[in-house]
Amino acid sequence: MRSNKRWVAMLAALISVLGCSPADKPPSLADHRLDDPPPLTGHRPGAAGIGDTDFPTDGNGGYDVSHYDLAVDYTPMTKQLQGVATIQAAATQDLSSFNLDLSGLTVSKVSVNNSTATFRRQGEELTVTPAKPIDVKSRFSVKVVYSGQPKPIQDSANLGTFGFVATPDGAFVASEPDGSKTWFPNNDHPADKATYDITITVPAGVTALANGELVGRPTTAQGKTTFRWRERHPMASYLATATMGKFAQREGRTPAGIPEIAAVDPKFKTSLDKLFTLTGEITDYWSTVFGPYPFSSTGGIVDDFAAGYALENQTKPLYGGFAPDQSIIAHELAHQWFGNSLSIKRWKELWLNEGFATYAEWLWSEHKGGKSAEAIFNEFHARPADDPMWAYPPGRARPDDLFNLSVYNRGAMTLHALRKAVGDATFFKLLKTWTADHRHGHVTTDEFIHLAEQLSGQNLRPLFDAWLFQPRRPA
Ligand SMILES: [Zn+2]
Repeated sequence: MRSNKRWVAMLAALISVLGCSPADKPPSLADHRLDDPPPLTGHRPGAAGIGDTDFPTDGNGGYDVSHYDLAVDYTPMTKQLQGVATIQAAATQDLSSFNLDLSGLTVSKVSVNNSTATFRRQGEELTVTPAKPIDVKSRFSVKVVYSGQPKPIQDSANLGTFGFVATPDGAFVASEPDGSKTWFPNNDHPADKATYDITITVPAGVTALANGELVGRPTTAQGKTTFRWRERHPMASYLATATMGKFAQREGRTPAGIPEIAAVDPKFKTSLDKLFTLTGEITDYWSTVFGPYPFSSTGGIVDDFAAGYALENQTKPLYGGFAPDQSIIAHELAHQWFGNSLSIKRWKELWLNEGFATYAEWLWSEHKGGKSAEAIFNEFHARPADDPMWAYPPGRARPDDLFNLSVYNRGAMTLHALRKAVGDATFFKLLKTWTADHRHGHVTTDEFIHLAEQLSGQNLRPLFDAWLFQPRRPA
């Protein structure tokens, strides 16, 4: 994710400093479970959170999703969504019940392994009790039938409005960090990635864009068109999209041959060719710097909702209400490696996404003959000792100020300091080794430090400690 207007994030930081942050989380559902302690052995309820203590009710415990098959029918005029989510999962404990995350919307039926299940709602948790308990390691499927008017999440500490946002001609769908539960029930945390089939039915004349590639041509019957998209590589829930509306589109391949789709709201029609060309050029360039492109297609979407930010939705970054410049395109496409293919297990390690994507902006500038990464690093380092960036250690992103600019800029500075310490040959070998070792998987800061030390033969703990974890400007 990157803010298009730097002041948005600065304002959020200021609000947070003034102590009126609206980021207070609803009471933990762990409280609820304390009323009714589960038995210590045998089948028991899955936890209401996946274990990320900064976001205690995000994701869920007791199972791991392998695939989402989503079918959504959306009518822009009435803002009504009808959905059927069929989820394939494997139990990681003996389960008497388990939770899914879902915000708003009305659930009419839930079944597990084709048998009707009972369910209840509490806050943003949907608790499902199957007719028969589920044994550890067994695979199961859960089908949820639901409907209603999706409502986005408003959280000014974490970049404003996100999730499913209705637009006059369709919807803008960008969900970082935990907004995918506004349009489908899921395990809403990047620690559980899965593949997706996303089938979207809209009134004829409306285009629906989702992750991955189209499976067959869209079909139209009785005034409605159905688009079938498939993302065959694992994807974090916050990267799933079903962006709908009127779009001018261009399809083709990057110069190196990767299939590409660019789509822009008619308001931004003049930016279509630039978006298509830059996306192709940058995807190919990053493939030479970071290693092979991790997915089966690339692209970008400009929609007319003025989010003021862009999000790196897998295979199709979404730009919210502005024609993106090359720097922000370079940022969002770098996330296809850092964040999308290599995903974080805990939000506090967000610098592994944003520090790398910001450093990619500096590398792109250097590549195009603009300011060098060294020059940009020096500008930031010249900031006075009382600049807020130095008080916020980027290695530990805070839940009430997740997208602080330190996570971006000081995160990128960390990588530049590392590059200077180990030299260009080792640094760029490290980037490619990192993306190859963890392709389509999960990563931690400790693993990155370990690999950097292994490839360089140096003790880099002091460097990483000063740059990532100390609340002061490194020397
Ligand atoms: Zn970003």
